[in-house]
Amino acid sequence: MKTRDCDVVIIGAGVAGLAAAGTLRRAGKTVRCLEAADRVGGRILTVHDPLSPVAVELGAEFIHGRPPETWDILRNQSIAAYELRTEDAGGDPFPQSRGRRDESFETYIRGSRKPAAAKRWARHYVEGFNAARAELISMASLRQDADAADKIEGHRAFRIPGGYDQVPLTLLRSIPEHSSVVQLNSIAEQVKWRRRSAEVQFRSALSGQVGKLRCRQVVVTVPLGVLQAGAIRFDPEPTAILKAAATLKFGHVYRITFRFVRAFWDPDTGFLFSNEKWFPTWWTTYPQIAPLLTAWMAGSAAESYKGLDKASEALASLSRILNRKAPQPEAVYFHDWQADPFFRGAYSYVPVNGLPARNTLSIPADNTLFFAGEAANTTGHSATVHGAIESGLHAARQLL
Ligand SMILES: Cc1cc2nc3c(=O)[nH]c(=O)nc-3n(C[C@H](O)[C@H](O)[C@H](O)COP(=O)(O)OP(=O)(O)OC[C@H]3O[C@@H](n4cnc5c(N)ncnc54)[C@H](O)[C@@H]3O)c2cc1C
Repeated sequence: MKTRDCDVVIIGAGVAGLAAAGTLRRAGKTVRCLEAADRVGGRILTVHDPLSPVAVELGAEFIHGRPPETWDILRNQSIAAYELRTEDAGGDPFPQSRGRRDESFETYIRGSRKPAAAKRWARHYVEGFNAARAELISMASLRQDADAADKIEGHRAFRIPGGYDQVPLTLLRSIPEHSSVVQLNSIAEQVKWRRRSAEVQFRSALSGQVGKLRCRQVVVTVPLGVLQAGAIRFDPEPTAILKAAATLKFGHVYRITFRFVRAFWDPDTGFLFSNEKWFPTWWTTYPQIAPLLTAWMAGSAAESYKGLDKASEALASLSRILNRKAPQPEAVYFHDWQADPFFRGAYSYVPVNGLPARNTLSIPADNTLFFAGEAANTTGHSATVHGAIESGLHAARQLL
């Protein structure tokens, strides 16, 4: 192959890609980070609407616990975060039993002696939190996640009132000469590689023109759904890695935030859980006061939802939950992560007996192709922002 353009090409500028880029640049590597969209941050997508008293999140909203990956950024940049009242988010549905064989959450809960209502609640919780289907998600993975969460006070939750986007923007600014590292509107389409040499082909989202970058190593941080769809061709295919990607599941989420003229609910409301089929879960910005309500539907419900008008469906559900007709909202904020070709879903989960797949995904092919991002996190923090940052840092350290 001809001369190199840089040492490392990173595909994707979500928090994993940005964290990897910063570490590699600071270690003296020349890096180019190709991002398909016209912005960085990926599944962190904040709307700063001047008519809303707080920033509105369309993707990640909460910091789960006290993970150093996120809190170091907040502390260093003096970014304010406030704690939510999580006791009304329900108790811990994760079982203490440690069976040797893996099983699905559904099998586990059916075999448990809990009352029917508790089982129903636990199923709702596990599906809602993990964007997973109860009959598929692995108990072994849920236990690993629960153990990992325990170590970082994962029962606590925090929100960044000024917007979660401050986290990726801080990561971006921490990359030396970031404007010549991160290249937006650049859709990676193909990676040709052999040991310690690769060529990444990308298409400009603006002009359609094709470009190529030659490098020694590549870090792929695109969402699992993009990998599974085969949107990036690899030549040759890293068989074990693509098989691991096919094993994991990419869950679905619909979240809609409504802005009303004024808050019409009890000012002490934090989370609302219900047995509604569609959009059963809601939350306010409590303890911050704002006329915003967020509707959430994930897992089986999100996968099977076929209706067209999600906002009306959500408001109908809210009216039933509050036992009063919900007023017309002033604004509706929504991003369809499933339909977005650069995401194709919300976040990953592990099916029964699939736990080793996360590990396989994180093992580089021939010290040349590295995979990172929330799905490749092996520390029990996948499907989170801090887990994605950790996996980006991990890939960068492996590469160095
Ligand atoms: C609705 C929703 C709510 C969530 N809530 C929370 C929460 O409250 N707390 C929490 O911790 N986590 C939450 N998450 C999960 C969290 O957002 C993710 O785990 C994390 O942001 C993933 O970061 P990443 O860098 O791995 O991937 P991403 O952020 O997805 O970054 C990957 C990047 O790759 C780009 N890309 C895709 N295809 C290509 C291509 N062909 N070429 C170049 N670039 C490409 C994408 O545009 C994207 O920018 C939520 C996610 C969703 C969707």
